[in-house]
Amino acid sequence: MRRFSANYVLPVTCPPIKNGIVEVDNNGEIISIVDPGREFQEIHSTEFHNGVIVPGFVNAHCHLELSHLKGQVKSGSGIAGFIKAVTEYRINDSEVIEKAIQLAIREIELTGTVAVGDICNTLDTFFLKSRSSIFFHNFIEVFGINPLAAERIIENANGIMRGFEKLQNSSTSITPHSTYSLSNTLWKTVREHINKSNLPVSIHYAESLPEFEYLMNGTGPLMERYRLLNIPFDVPFERTPFKVITDNINHNKDVLFIHNTFASVEELVELNRIYRKATFVTCPESNLIIEGKLPDLVSMYKHGLRIAIGTDSLASATSLSMLHHIKLLLDNFTDIPFSEILKWSTLNGAEALNVSGRFGSIEIGKAPGLNLITNFDFDKMCPRANSEVRRLI
Ligand SMILES: [Zn+2]
Repeated sequence: MRRFSANYVLPVTCPPIKNGIVEVDNNGEIISIVDPGREFQEIHSTEFHNGVIVPGFVNAHCHLELSHLKGQVKSGSGIAGFIKAVTEYRINDSEVIEKAIQLAIREIELTGTVAVGDICNTLDTFFLKSRSSIFFHNFIEVFGINPLAAERIIENANGIMRGFEKLQNSSTSITPHSTYSLSNTLWKTVREHINKSNLPVSIHYAESLPEFEYLMNGTGPLMERYRLLNIPFDVPFERTPFKVITDNINHNKDVLFIHNTFASVEELVELNRIYRKATFVTCPESNLIIEGKLPDLVSMYKHGLRIAIGTDSLASATSLSMLHHIKLLLDNFTDIPFSEILKWSTLNGAEALNVSGRFGSIEIGKAPGLNLITNFDFDKMCPRANSEVRRLI
């Protein structure tokens, strides 16, 4: 058993506790949370730290298997340019890929993330995940606009899924990549898969304007990109990202909508109304690097939508530390309090991945991991630019 204390404990589900003490058992499960009130009393064998104690972070959207692309994609290339760079940057050196994934997982562990929603197109991350204490939800992602390839794509995805189902401390589900990258034939099979499962779906949504242009008119940079591939595909007409989602994903599903940069708040509110549990995941650094624009998080927050934070991959982010992305949000959205952004980075992500029984807040019976944020601004109750995070457990 260990006891931790700091200037404040931020449990997320209740207000900050000044000089609070958190007692955990040997498995990291919280046994008690003490509010000493005005009279701070040092309880024997308590480890006191300068800073604030927060629960372990939950990264709702990452692509660990793209970690070797760090620094390889030019910023400002737009979604079509980004997809081109990622698909054409072929590297067959499995040692390089594995080393990059290993470093990425190490960074995630050291910076206090306890659970990750990770997109998988291969089994490249399997071995290193099996050696990590982090909980992973593996989203086995499918895409392909060639209707003739649909069967092969789903067979391949099923093989990867069977592989990840052997991983301890994880869950795995099939998921569609985006609203613009699946043929109707592939959607049909994916629809059957996802709608009979109870596990969450994660889909890139309204990440760019070309997505709307392609679905509505069959024009724009995505259309140009597809044409160059020289494969058969159905050109969409008068479709919208919203329509693609609601036509294919059952309303009783838990859905993570990734990005939402170019969506109207009205359509997000409608998605939130329609789906059993909708989470709107923001990947702010990726949005700035690829499209140079951030989603309207102030309106989304004011409408009470469940927002979570993803780092996205190192192809479009400089760090997988959640605190790095929290600071970026605090810099760009000064009207949103840190207490709210902390909830996005912990509890909301845990709810989205269906692991809030264990992670996301400092509550008795949970084992959420404990992080210490140092150089904290106690007047404004938020991190400073030079704040750092480290795991206590
Ligand atoms: Zn992504």
